[in-house]
Amino acid sequence: MAEAKTYAVLTSGGDSPGMNCAIRAIARTLISMGHQCVGIRRGYSGLLEEDFMPLTISAVGNIIQHGGTILRTSRCPEFTKAIYRKKAHEILKKFHIDGLIVIGGDGSFKGAFEFFQEHQFPIIGIPGTIDNDISGTEYTIGYDTAVQTGIEAVDRIRDTALSHDRVFMIEVMGRNSSALALKVGLCTGAEYVISPSEEVPYDIIKERIERGIRRGKNSSIFIVAEGKTAGRTYSIQDNLHKNFNIDAHVCILGHIQRGGSPTSNDRSIATLMGHLAAQEICHFTEPKAAVVINGKTTLTHLSNCLQKTSGKDHDLLNIISQLSI
Ligand code: ADP
Repeated sequence: MAEAKTYAVLTSGGDSPGMNCAIRAIARTLISMGHQCVGIRRGYSGLLEEDFMPLTISAVGNIIQHGGTILRTSRCPEFTKAIYRKKAHEILKKFHIDGLIVIGGDGSFKGAFEFFQEHQFPIIGIPGTIDNDISGTEYTIGYDTAVQTGIEAVDRIRDTALSHDRVFMIEVMGRNSSALALKVGLCTGAEYVISPSEEVPYDIIKERIERGIRRGKNSSIFIVAEGKTAGRTYSIQDNLHKNFNIDAHVCILGHIQRGGSPTSNDRSIATLMGHLAAQEICHFTEPKAAVVINGKTTLTHLSNCLQKTSGKDHDLLNIISQLSI
């Protein structure tokens, strides 16, 4: 049997449902291969503060169904500086840690890649963010659960919109990515999805509402992607009132989309990614990320996963528009 080694895992940046499934799969895979697994609490901040916990078989029991991350997470501005990454390397050496698995978004991956380039420390990434906005992968852990939460919320709002003949503008999370907004819009039969980057198309909104009224439909649902600042939908509401005399109701889904029990897709993909990442760290050759390509869980070089994607999909937007006639 190969020499027993110790590998660490941390979660960094925004939390997402399914991170716990990945942590469980990593720890159990490593232990079953004769190695040890250490959890680092609160991302890179916990690494710099030596905030470690053993991830034994039982420590990762009964977590597969829970949202959030048992390791907790944080944003750590220090880690963007080389001097702190050097300190992190010294700490990992001091604790005899042989490799690190980072679960997080593109920011966390940028930190991980810089850390590898400077110290050649074995590192593997797992994409975890509800925004599904990381290059090099079709899927990020948490996206499916966030879509499902968004759908359930919009369905509920539709009940009241129908009963009161109301226009609703529902803002979904996703920062500068349209992925979440488009999927929620497609699955809820929204009139239109306002993407984060585009000028608000007031003419289209007005036309859609009037078109609905002409065919006897007195309520409508618009999905707004949050963009840089959450809450931008309030200014859209103001403008609709001032310029078109349209009274719209606003609902900001916000962090409700970040929590909750992971869906089957998130559980299965996170588990497969965790299993693959744990196997790879034991036979490390170069920094990689566990990703989904052509629907299959696989590995790619970490440098392919450092960009944000826009999630823009004009075909999908056109289909949503066409179906809302
Ligand atoms: P996410 O990983 O969800 O995209 P952030 O962008 O906030 O979230 O990044 C999480 C953490 O990753 C940051 O707090 C920081 O510690 C680290 N990080 C982000 N960008 C860089 C970078 N360019 N260089 C080094 N570390 C970075």
